[in-house]
Amino acid sequence: MTGINQPVQMMEVPIPEIGPKDVLVKIKAAGICHSDAHYLAGISKQSFLPITLGHEVAGVIEKIGAEVKNLKIGERVCLHYNISCGECHYCLTGNDQFCPEAKMIGHHLDGGYAEYIAVPARNAIRLPEEISFEAGATLMCASATSFHALLKSRIRPGEKAAVFGVGGLGQSAVQLAKAFGATEVFAVDINDEKLRLAEKHGAIPINGKEKNPVEDIKKLNNGKGVDIALELIGLPITQKQAIASVGPMGRVVFVGLAEKTIELDTYREVLANEAELIGSNDHLLSELPLLIDFAKNKSLDTANIISKTIPLDADAINLALKELSDYSGAAVRTVIVP
Ligand SMILES: [Zn+2]
Ligand SMILES: [Zn+2]
Repeated sequence: MTGINQPVQMMEVPIPEIGPKDVLVKIKAAGICHSDAHYLAGISKQSFLPITLGHEVAGVIEKIGAEVKNLKIGERVCLHYNISCGECHYCLTGNDQFCPEAKMIGHHLDGGYAEYIAVPARNAIRLPEEISFEAGATLMCASATSFHALLKSRIRPGEKAAVFGVGGLGQSAVQLAKAFGATEVFAVDINDEKLRLAEKHGAIPINGKEKNPVEDIKKLNNGKGVDIALELIGLPITQKQAIASVGPMGRVVFVGLAEKTIELDTYREVLANEAELIGSNDHLLSELPLLIDFAKNKSLDTANIISKTIPLDADAINLALKELSDYSGAAVRTVIVP
């Protein structure tokens, strides 16, 4: 990326140097994410320009630093995109997303639309043979964020869940909620295609365009609210619906980035129900090996996530980014395979 709203360009750059605790990864797959279109549009500012985009990366270890002990050359890995200091209070307590030094690849550091990337060894998570590089790359963003949100919800076996918005995050959330033991997962969206896919993943689909989804959820749930609700859209209407959809002691997790504020009747909507409103931001390094296990044992079906692969080619990438920014592409996910 050379500038805001400029097409990305192919550039020859040196293979990155590695420090003693780093690994050099030969990239086999890099997901093109909606965030990348945001960076290109200037909605979120890049740390420097030109910068290599891409934060959803999987590949093979090509070189290891002198102090790296847990990884070997030739191993398949996918990368945690948040590079934190590893030493501050937040890093040491496993909450690396709050590390004041944290930098994201493709945003604050050069990323994965490339042939090689260097990262600290602890950012490289082993990727089993059962999971393709393409799936491994995309697991590192949307699925990981859904996974973190579900952990924040403290979902327990036997509980019931509602997922508002079943795009990339939501499809993973439905499957993972089931894997965590949710007996029923209601999927709310206004897109029939996405609802059909959610149904395939075991959800009860509810089209929020046709009727009030909260009434529907309660009707289908013996008049009761659900135990947890995930709001993945970030709109006031669905945020209010998510709050209304939970029963006593329900937990509502906000994941969708919202531009607008909402009004809340704290007495009737929160206090009376002992409801909990929970924020969920990104995901953690410590969660990723478990997420990989869920994908390996097929609790999380990654086959439906990737719909297109393209070469490391500026024109093909620009087209994919354009389709993301104007929603013209049917593809759920495009992955660069260098
Ligand atoms: Zn992403
Ligand atoms: Zn730190």
